[in-house]
Amino acid sequence: MSGMARNEVTIDLGALRRNVKHLVELASGSELWAVVKANAYGHGAADCGDTALGAGASALCVATVSEGLALRRELPEPRIIVLGPSSNREVAQSRDARLELVVSSDIPSDIPVHLKLDTGMGRWGMSELVRPDLDVVGLMTHFATADDDLDFARIQLGRFLEATADYTHLTRHAANSAALLRIPEARLDAVRCGIAIYGLSPFQTDAADDGLEPVLSWHSEVSLVKQLQPGESTGYGRLFIAAEPTWIGIVPVGYADGFRRGLTGTTVLVDGEPARVVGTVSMDAFAVELDGPTAVGTRVTLVGSGVPLEAHARHAGTINYELATQIETGSERARRTLYYS
Ligand SMILES: *Cc1c(COP(=O)(O)O)cnc(C)c1O
Repeated sequence: MSGMARNEVTIDLGALRRNVKHLVELASGSELWAVVKANAYGHGAADCGDTALGAGASALCVATVSEGLALRRELPEPRIIVLGPSSNREVAQSRDARLELVVSSDIPSDIPVHLKLDTGMGRWGMSELVRPDLDVVGLMTHFATADDDLDFARIQLGRFLEATADYTHLTRHAANSAALLRIPEARLDAVRCGIAIYGLSPFQTDAADDGLEPVLSWHSEVSLVKQLQPGESTGYGRLFIAAEPTWIGIVPVGYADGFRRGLTGTTVLVDGEPARVVGTVSMDAFAVELDGPTAVGTRVTLVGSGVPLEAHARHAGTINYELATQIETGSERARRTLYYS
């Protein structure tokens, strides 16, 4: 396996492009804004943002001003909207970098702003719309339950439409990925899609059911193979003790790489065959149970075809959003490879 990295994250920008095109079609006339916060959910913000724009997205959204400033250095042209709150100092920086801000209280001047209404999320957002003046370009709200309780999401949508009825000349936006996929009437003027553009399911189900293809895959290799004798164990805490002679492989990826500790017991692929993660996942390595002696250097698929992030998330009691953002993409610890399928 020459050239294989210890820890290799592969980003298929072709899949991302197809996902965005599919979502643009579903948005049927509403603008699609690609949410690339948290380094594009671990996928790489500049590359994913640029590809999304090329596939029909008309703006990029980030969570913080510092994310927006970093993205502006890479992409001089596009609209970049900061979804999270910003401090006074950040407002000045945002003006210089031509960012747009979402605000829930004091409205700064000389910068395009989107007013956020809290219609039921119970976080940031004004509970009543103050008179939008000159620099207000958008009105928005955010759904708390578009991925499971559609009735509550529709209540939020109703409140939003009522509160903004006099301002239909402004860009009104509410939908995230789940709402775009399940609540067509929530599309309004623009939709803000994150998870779906990465080919991941906001419902934690099979993304293919919604016509989406995963963008990220994650590989490593077996770096050590050994046979445990009955009574011998692998890893901290002796969580896995062999009952019979058992071949195990050590994979040099651990929770510091984003392969979190709760993934003990999940399934990865060793040379394309399912293998169970055994023992405690440690900071830099975990063990898999092997069918028999296996060559050092055999490819291990941590995430990819047959081992979707959604399955790992279910196993770890979390959601694909959290797992994806924890993968140490393109850092010192992982090599990131881009390609177009
Ligand atoms: C993160 C975020 C989104 C995108 O949500 P997905 O479920 O990933 O599509 C949309 N709007 C706001 C305000 C967000 O913070």
